[in-house]
Amino acid sequence: MDNKERVFNFSAGPSMLPLDVMEGIAGNLTNYAGSGQSVMEMSHRSKEYEAIIGDAESNLRELLGIPENYKVMFLQGGATLQFSMVALNLLRKSKKADYVVTGTWAEKAAQEAAKFGDVRIAATSEQGMFTYIPEVKREDFREDADYVHITLNNTIYGTHFPYVPDTGGIPLVCDMSSCILSEEIDVGKYGLIYAGAQKNVGPAGVTLAIMREDLLGFAPKSAPTYLDYKIHADNDSMYNTPPCFAIFVAGEVFKKIIKEGGVAALEKANKEKAGKLYGFIDGSELFRCPIAEKDRSLMNVVFLTGDESLDKKFIQGAKEEGLYNLAGHRSIGGMRASIYNAMPMAGVEKLIGFMKKFEEENGR
Ligand SMILES: *Cc1c(COP(=O)(O)O)cnc(C)c1O
Repeated sequence: MDNKERVFNFSAGPSMLPLDVMEGIAGNLTNYAGSGQSVMEMSHRSKEYEAIIGDAESNLRELLGIPENYKVMFLQGGATLQFSMVALNLLRKSKKADYVVTGTWAEKAAQEAAKFGDVRIAATSEQGMFTYIPEVKREDFREDADYVHITLNNTIYGTHFPYVPDTGGIPLVCDMSSCILSEEIDVGKYGLIYAGAQKNVGPAGVTLAIMREDLLGFAPKSAPTYLDYKIHADNDSMYNTPPCFAIFVAGEVFKKIIKEGGVAALEKANKEKAGKLYGFIDGSELFRCPIAEKDRSLMNVVFLTGDESLDKKFIQGAKEEGLYNLAGHRSIGGMRASIYNAMPMAGVEKLIGFMKKFEEENGR
């Protein structure tokens, strides 16, 4: 395959990045903006790098409308480390936390938190194989819970909360790893938002945390320094060496999004892409989507034929057409098309074209 010939990559993460962003970076990879060095080589304390991380933060603030009383942090360790960091920092009074379990990631977050305190599952859709989002009300949470945790978009099952739960003032903590910047959100409804970068933001290696200031400063004295949010907030994500290059790439993605109309424009495009794909699946005789219609993810579209060997044949055939990584998560099988911000409509259309052809050749 020629170097220039790129595939459409439907991977759940790491996933596609905007080609123009990568080409722009490649263009001055070894000499950034006349600095005589690559961003990879640059001191994180240099003037040049301070501008890079400062712009990344202010552009993210602009994109999400982050209020003044929230801190933005660029961390390491992925969403997985956030599962424990959240509990370590926020189990600050009753040591109770309530989790809504809507899939594997939510379950992992709850299990990790249970190492630190009293974790209760306020609601779960496990008995329905996580094909829908349960309705949770204020009464479902313990009044003295230190926080409530949700996973807004469930990457593996292809569901998304159609609403933000009312917690009646209990801080709401949200894993937005697979949907941040794909839709407009009201940051003020959350106490803490976290997201690994490798789905919608940039390369793996940086994790975003957006935290209301009054929740900072509750890590126990025994907590490892790195795991105290306050350390990162007080030091503008420069307590130690941050993941410099990953932050730089994320910053370039932020600039592109701003230039192209912000999160509202992306949300509109994402609705068009997902709408087209779900529309085709729902009208198909061969493929179906098992997810409740109102709870469907715009980012991760799960579908299947109901015949495992046919699913395998589909995934293989798609790959030969340059449509990569369409296998469902290893825990549930079937297919999953992850169509994050950087997946162009052309990729979705090519996928639908292949699905049509496959259905004609293999339909019942
Ligand atoms: C991918 C993902 C994770 C895990 O992220 P890591 O960066 O690998 O730790 C957690 N939560 C959600 C919702 C995800 O999509």
